[in-house]
Amino acid sequence: MQTHEIINRFTEHFRAAGHTVVPSASLILDDPNLLFVNAGMVQFKPYFLGDAPAPYPRATSIQKCLRTGDIDEVGKTTRHLTFFQMAGNFSFGDYFKEGAIRHAWSLVTGPQDQGGYGFEPERIWATVYETDDDAARLWHEVAGLPWERIQRRGVEDNSWDMGVPGPSGPCSEIFYDRGPEYGAEGGPIVDENRYTEIWNLVFMENQRGESTGPNKGDYPVLGPLPQQNIDTGMGVERIACLLQGVENVYETDLLRSVIDKAEEVSGRRYGDDHDDDVRFRVIADHARSGVMLVGDGVTPGNEGRGYVLRRLLRRIVRSARLLGVHEPVLGEFAKVVRDAMSPSYPELVTEFDRIDSVLRNEEEAFLATLSTGSKIFDTAAAETRKAGGTQLPGSKAFQLHDTYGFPIDLTLEMAAEQGLSVDEQGFRELMSEQRRRAKEDAKARKTAHGDLSTYRSLLDSHGTTEFIGYTDLQSTSRVL
Ligand code: ATP
Ligand code: MG
Ligand code: MG
Ligand code: MG
Repeated sequence: MQTHEIINRFTEHFRAAGHTVVPSASLILDDPNLLFVNAGMVQFKPYFLGDAPAPYPRATSIQKCLRTGDIDEVGKTTRHLTFFQMAGNFSFGDYFKEGAIRHAWSLVTGPQDQGGYGFEPERIWATVYETDDDAARLWHEVAGLPWERIQRRGVEDNSWDMGVPGPSGPCSEIFYDRGPEYGAEGGPIVDENRYTEIWNLVFMENQRGESTGPNKGDYPVLGPLPQQNIDTGMGVERIACLLQGVENVYETDLLRSVIDKAEEVSGRRYGDDHDDDVRFRVIADHARSGVMLVGDGVTPGNEGRGYVLRRLLRRIVRSARLLGVHEPVLGEFAKVVRDAMSPSYPELVTEFDRIDSVLRNEEEAFLATLSTGSKIFDTAAAETRKAGGTQLPGSKAFQLHDTYGFPIDLTLEMAAEQGLSVDEQGFRELMSEQRRRAKEDAKARKTAHGDLSTYRSLLDSHGTTEFIGYTDLQSTSRVL
């Protein structure tokens, strides 16, 4: 089943059940707590917080999301993208746990010839919050899940709040068992690769108070909310991966064409070499994220959103280089992304010239930096060899990183090509020294310009912190 069909089925399922279809918000919302929209609920936040009355009791959307916190997983796990589409259904004081479970179950396991996704019920598992007996009972009674496929988890995984006093509650996640070839038996609490999370149902039922400690769940529950809400998020690409019978999300219909293009320009084959495969997947993910971000108005820069974009684009160029491509590639990848994504996002066609020129300019600038950096590198390598050494000093690797934006793995790769190693330990010490200094700077700034810790407050609409925070961004924002 192609991605557009997965999206249509989701929307139709919930439209038929009385939900108002709401378009995706931009990746950039005017919300001081978030760099990027990272969940479907973000645009509905005022209704959940009670700041504005909800104009409809039920809504559904397919929301563009970006999670910078998942960047290191990309290409390595089977299921993490930086940009992905989250399909969601929302109830504002209307149906609650039973309705949410019923709606999700009927779509996930409904026969394909009746508008469902047709997953075998025997392969579905659910987790619930450790004390949420209601949810466990409903999975058993409404969905018919046997007790052994309903697992209980603690506050880290199955409890939700916005990081500030306000709504909170347990959540319940739905997993699909990919089978023994993907990992160990025993359900999602044992192996989240074999048991792939596809959907998270959040049950907002409590009012939480002020934080009392640094950990998730460190707050008193003040009582039940006057109105109980539902917020859910289903990963469109994860469903596509499972329904298309491919190994991972990067090989699904809307991303695979970028891998094909990267094969074409590099002359290497996806599937031949593990390290190359990770690079192919990184390119596929980052190219799409880059195009979607520029489409929503972000331009490359040294701070905040612009820096995230810059980092993504540089990782593409670097990955392509490690695949042996030294020519500009972003324009080619952008076209492929446009063709895959424009049926859902037609603005990618009308805005393409602008997107293309932003990407090309950034790539040109980075390639120029790379070429200057390469000269510095060659000189340092020659000096090392002349002195009879085989190891490039950590200070050189640091200079290449700090002044020329060379990521360490690029330096390592170039050194290896010349039969040299790199003093990584020395490099890392200089990096942490720099990070420590940047943190002190940030602290000084924080006292000067107000508390940046509010940036953490909404990070986590569904349980994990997705945003690496301004402090981290600033510490690494020295490239170029
Ligand atoms: P995971 O535990 O796999 O990292 P999560 O618990 O962080 O996922 P949620 O915050 O619950 O994810 O988001 C709701 C849904 O969005 C998930 O069930 C999943 O289907 C999808 N999703 C989350 N993160 C990603 C991602 N990085 N790439 C693709 N889909 C994602
Ligand atoms: Mg999870
Ligand atoms: Mg989850
Ligand atoms: Mg996550």
